[in-house]
Amino acid sequence: MTASDALDTSAKQLNVDIVIFGGGVAGLWLLSRLKKAGYQVLLLENEALGAGQTRYSQGIIHGGTKYALTGKLTASSESIYDMPQIWRDCLQGQGEVDLSSVKILSEHQYMWSTPSLLSRLSGFFASRVVRGRMLAVKKYNYPAAFQNNKFKGKVYQLDEPVLDAGSIINALAKPNISNIMHIKSIKELSETRLNVEAANGEVWDITSKKSILAAGQGNAALLQQLGHHSPEMQLRPLQMVMVRGGLPEKLYAHCLGASVNPRITITSGEDTQGNIVWYLGGQLAEEGVHRTKEEQISKAKKELQALMPWLDFSIMQWASIDINRAEVKQADGSRPSSSYYDEIKNVITVWPTKLALAPNLAREVLEHLEDTNITKSGAREMPGFSHAPIADLPWQEESKWQS
Ligand SMILES: Cc1cc2nc3c(=O)[nH]c(=O)nc-3n(C[C@H](O)[C@H](O)[C@H](O)COP(=O)(O)OP(=O)(O)OC[C@H]3O[C@@H](n4cnc5c(N)ncnc54)[C@H](O)[C@@H]3O)c2cc1C
Repeated sequence: MTASDALDTSAKQLNVDIVIFGGGVAGLWLLSRLKKAGYQVLLLENEALGAGQTRYSQGIIHGGTKYALTGKLTASSESIYDMPQIWRDCLQGQGEVDLSSVKILSEHQYMWSTPSLLSRLSGFFASRVVRGRMLAVKKYNYPAAFQNNKFKGKVYQLDEPVLDAGSIINALAKPNISNIMHIKSIKELSETRLNVEAANGEVWDITSKKSILAAGQGNAALLQQLGHHSPEMQLRPLQMVMVRGGLPEKLYAHCLGASVNPRITITSGEDTQGNIVWYLGGQLAEEGVHRTKEEQISKAKKELQALMPWLDFSIMQWASIDINRAEVKQADGSRPSSSYYDEIKNVITVWPTKLALAPNLAREVLEHLEDTNITKSGAREMPGFSHAPIADLPWQEESKWQS
């Protein structure tokens, strides 16, 4: 019996140009761009939109300063240099996708440093990435967390906005909701044909000219189901930390410690009761994968207490979250320098590497598709599909605070 013989004969039929698997920032940005370019596109999501890495992201639209700091800014990673402006255009409703409804958490990301590090940063301040994009902040303009005489470091303002990940997902999904299907399972899968059970129980037999795998960590299972051995994926785990209760204000800042690697990256959100939450990443989260939850929380408390001794962190509520970054495999396991796509047998596999690089990825895939000359069927009206929910942000899930 062949795969197509096994397809459910009562299935509804659908023929599209492109099927995208995965409704994170990569899949949704691609959906928007490809639809506008005239392709008939269907996006399949098996959990909730944004449910993968996107909702866990710190929402920083990097322009490369972090990489300039670590001296790892290679020619290819310069692609990130243009990202803040591309996003700003979209935020103003004048870009390639309309993000005018996205919540801007902060117009700027701050960076603060310990006095010992400043002398070693002169080369960094002179680099192209940083020039004109980083301002020393006057003391009276310091974020509230640093308005204390005991603070001896310096604060810089980076030209990198910080965005609410939930509202990005919402803004990208809403105009294209009729092209999104919430699925329960994929029964049959080949490069250009699949049979799925939608979340509402409908069975669909779908053919396409190309598939795009934008399922983050889920790409590995899809590639396996297709019998493809490449591209290979790598996971780089993090143990992020959340803290709430008695925080002075929202903060969006990297701390540079003994080295130029961000020792801690703090972004902020609100829980369902409106309490301020600090969400902690950076080196703390990378090194935290070797710690138990208790050890990680204890380390985070010590770090913040050492960096801001004027605040009392012992009274606050803490939680930690394990989450993987999914990327194309690198020989040395390091972070890829840019976004990634590759096509093998009509299957395009993508990993954006960074939320900030989603526009770069979409542009590259679009250009690649234009070269392949597949016909565009135009924006035909789609039938009403099973509706995919939008994932909550981690700090808005009370269960995450109890674990
Ligand atoms: C803790 C953390 C902080 C980060 N902070 C930043 C930051 O500040 N700035 C930045 O630029 N980047 C950041 N990143 C990186 C960024 O979040 C990711 O690069 C980006 O979100 C990846 O998006 P994606 O769409 O490829 O994947 P995902 O967001 O993982 O989305 C994949 C989607 O596919 C769905 N899916 C899985 N399997 C299937 C299947 N079989 N069928 C259908 N759907 C499927 C999932 O449910 C999910 O919705 C951070 C990442 C992490 C983990």
